[in-house]
Amino acid sequence: MAYTAPVDDIVHALTRIASFDRLVATGAFGDVDLATLRAILDESARFSNEQLEPLCKAGDRTPARLEAGKVTTSPGWKDAYVKWARGGWGALTGSHDFGGQGLPLSLAMAAQEMWNGASVAFCLGPTLTAGAIEAIAAHGSEDLKALYLPRLISGEWMGTMNLTEPGAGSDVGALRTRAERRDDGTYRLFGSKIFITYGEHDLTNNIAHLVLARLPDAPAGTRGISLFLVPKYLVNPDGSLGARNDVVCAGLEHKLGIHGSPTCTMVYGEREGAVGWLIGEENRGLAAMFTMMNNARLAVGIQGVGIAEAATQTALLYARDRRQGRAPGATGQGMSPIIEHPDVTRMLLTGRALTVASRALCVLTAEAIDLSHALKGDDAARWAERAALLTPLAKAFSTDCGFDVASLGVQVHGGMGYIEETGAAQYLRDARITQIYEGTNGIQAIDLVSRKLPQSGGATLAALLDEARAIARDVAVEPDLSIAGRRIDGATEDAARAAAWFAALGRDPGDAQAVAVPFLRLLSLALAGAHVMKGALAARHHRDPDAGRHLAIARFLAEHLLDETASLAVRVTEGAAIVAVARDGLE
Ligand SMILES: Cc1cc2nc3c(=O)[nH]c(=O)nc-3n(C[C@H](O)[C@H](O)[C@H](O)COP(=O)(O)OP(=O)(O)OC[C@H]3O[C@@H](n4cnc5c(N)ncnc54)[C@H](O)[C@@H]3O)c2cc1C
Repeated sequence: MAYTAPVDDIVHALTRIASFDRLVATGAFGDVDLATLRAILDESARFSNEQLEPLCKAGDRTPARLEAGKVTTSPGWKDAYVKWARGGWGALTGSHDFGGQGLPLSLAMAAQEMWNGASVAFCLGPTLTAGAIEAIAAHGSEDLKALYLPRLISGEWMGTMNLTEPGAGSDVGALRTRAERRDDGTYRLFGSKIFITYGEHDLTNNIAHLVLARLPDAPAGTRGISLFLVPKYLVNPDGSLGARNDVVCAGLEHKLGIHGSPTCTMVYGEREGAVGWLIGEENRGLAAMFTMMNNARLAVGIQGVGIAEAATQTALLYARDRRQGRAPGATGQGMSPIIEHPDVTRMLLTGRALTVASRALCVLTAEAIDLSHALKGDDAARWAERAALLTPLAKAFSTDCGFDVASLGVQVHGGMGYIEETGAAQYLRDARITQIYEGTNGIQAIDLVSRKLPQSGGATLAALLDEARAIARDVAVEPDLSIAGRRIDGATEDAARAAAWFAALGRDPGDAQAVAVPFLRLLSLALAGAHVMKGALAARHHRDPDAGRHLAIARFLAEHLLDETASLAVRVTEGAAIVAVARDGLE
């Protein structure tokens, strides 16, 4: 197992693929500049390499455990968390009013990629806390903000998100947890939640649970859900801790991966009811959650990038060291390092290219979110729509890449990949959940084709495709890149043709859903292929020292992987009807 945070590659993505300069120029992020970006990312890399990377295996081997209602995290977890909080890492994007640094999300996500690459199970806790901070900041009362935000932003306390119940997973509207009003303005909650990440642990002395529940007179379905803040310990007005609230962890899940992350069954209101405070308005809980959905989904996409990077690095190291057979054209004596076998080279290049592609989609999404906050009026709305369209791509494509690249990593290791010692298998196990939580990748694809493609009459997508076409034109005039230029252009037209199929009048929603997943992959490949090449070309024009490396990967992505878009386009435009017809085959 080997992971060294790839600072240079991340800075390349932020500056040559996205435009960090444009973010800085908005003036919305204080005096942050490229030097600050580099300094923060260097420090984050040091923290990831030294403090978090050792946790990865420790958490896998010695999972969090539950004894007498208390969860003890894996060895080294608490020490690392204290250092993480003291380092101010939870405060990057928080508001200045509550102790945050007000930095762009793009920068925070870049740091998060490193923490995830080092230990995705550790990083989940801070990721969920960031979601809680965002929901409270956007919808909480002034009292709740004053009491909770400084402590969550400083890392003194952590936060959780409680949506899922046994009968309510993807269908959140089916949830049954009950909330009752009390005369003092508080609520009492009764019910059970399952799969709650970091629902209980020993890292902080209080936990702010954000819980979705239903009031007795609430309308059915998603329009009758409210959001509540339920602390593990009640909080006195001065911030000191009061009595234990009526919420307990009733069990920990035994999982395929992310063993270091405690996944809890939480029981609210076994006695008098768990005391909760409303966030936002009654029955508007889902809307409150949705305001933070883009960031949360992007954060999971970033987990995919981090795992893909770590799996590729680990496989590369092994492939340089392991010797078997003689590679074509080998000159020296004895067996060749397996990296010299063209098939192994192909696997490693595929891993690197998919990592870079998913990172590109994530930085473009983060940039769009930042600009939607930094700008005003129509500009802000345009960037918000772009962020909304890119988010399912960033989440689903990147997590699919995380898993696929981890699987390639196992393959590069041969039999040793299947043995736990090398760590290759852990990346595969850890990656699998990222395709499921925070909205399964199937649900992301349906969101893309049903809600995001029609935005502004298709104008959001049209603008993205036009940018990809322009990149293809710029690439095609470079003598060594003409094939890549053609492939990028072809992929863009495949995406345009498939998108037009969805837009056809009277398209049956069942047909559209049947081919949403292949469309999401097609569009992701087309956009990522274009923007990775754009970044590499920019590096060449700026004579960046590592321009050659970026161009090699961009070319491999375009010339070796983008051809997949042609068959995906056929699957989308001609393969929908058979899904319903062939259902008989499942009988
Ligand atoms: C390790 C772990 C950590 C988690 N952490 C949290 C957490 O912190 N907080 C929290 O609230 N939840 C958490 N979850 C829950 C997670 O978000 C859900 O598991 C996920 O949303 C899927 O719900 P489900 O498991 O009920 O699957 P289901 O909803 O039953 O889905 C099963 C399959 O059916 C498909 N499907 C379902 N509905 C549709 C539809 N309408 N259209 C098309 N396909 C559909 C899905 O895509 C999936 O393939 C966690 C889960 C795990 C395993």
